[in-house]
Amino acid sequence: EVGLRKALKNKELYLLYQPQIDVRSAEIVGVEALVRWRHPERGIISPNEFIPLAEETGLIVPIGEWVLRTACLQAKAWQRQTQRLVRMAVNLSAKQFKDENLTQIVISALHDTGLDPKLLELELTEGTLMDDARATMVTLGSLVGMFPWLAIGVYLSIDDFGTGFSSMNYLKRFDVRALKIDKSFICGLPQDSENAAITRAIIAMAHGLKMAVVAEGVETDEQLVLLEEFGCDMVQGFYLGHPSPHDSITLMLQKVCAIAAPAK
Ligand code: C2E
Ligand code: MG
Ligand code: MG
Repeated sequence: EVGLRKALKNKELYLLYQPQIDVRSAEIVGVEALVRWRHPERGIISPNEFIPLAEETGLIVPIGEWVLRTACLQAKAWQRQTQRLVRMAVNLSAKQFKDENLTQIVISALHDTGLDPKLLELELTEGTLMDDARATMVTLGSLVGMFPWLAIGVYLSIDDFGTGFSSMNYLKRFDVRALKIDKSFICGLPQDSENAAITRAIIAMAHGLKMAVVAEGVETDEQLVLLEEFGCDMVQGFYLGHPSPHDSITLMLQKVCAIAAPAK
């Protein structure tokens, strides 16, 4: 905890960015920011190791704010450098979602960096959304009243979809724009017929509700071919690009000269 407290001050945290590719156009339409900790003695520490500690201690709030600001700034820099509009996805933990200052943090990050709210995507897990959804439904008539960033066009997506419990009704009421199918369903494709059935069903349901679908953890060409056949909108995974430093993404964005609009 002491180390993590210092990490932010000593600039030991940094972000990697993983491209999200539109299946039809094969263009990069989004990028997910993934935090890393360069520990002075222990080397690089993955977020799976330190995010739970950050959640427990409440440090996730300042860390999350730093991630959000850094990611928005980077998205704006890519716009200037490459003339490309890519959506920046930022992971939000349950504690951040419950933080009463979240709205202010999101709005000031957008304001200070000048990033179009439509180019910011916030990723929540099913558990995070449902937990608060229940409370919100009881106490508030209006979701927008509680989360003004929904009204200004910030793109909301559900991370690790299929591993938790979602009420489809809540997803619609929260104006969820995309479902990210958890990589545990993608990893067995195309051989695993149950995972294939689940993936196909999630895609059909999401499209029926006018939501886009992102497949996470795409590692092979066979997976990509099957996902394309199923009508999946976007893909993310080692096969398309590993989480990479910002300058590698700049090069990827510069390779395509055409200005790609963000996907639906
Ligand atoms: P996530 O948001 O579901 O991110 C996807 C994770 O899958 C990333 O792990 C990514 O590196 C990994 N991944 C991407 N493509 C593939 C693939 O083809 N195969 C496999 N096996 N894995 C792939 P990472 O970067 O270690 O992040 C782990 C988790 O930590 C994230 O899962 C997210 O829940 C959390 N996290 C990361 N950055 C942040 C952050 O800034 N804030 C918060 N609150 N959580 C974060
Ligand atoms: Mg994520
Ligand atoms: Mg995920």
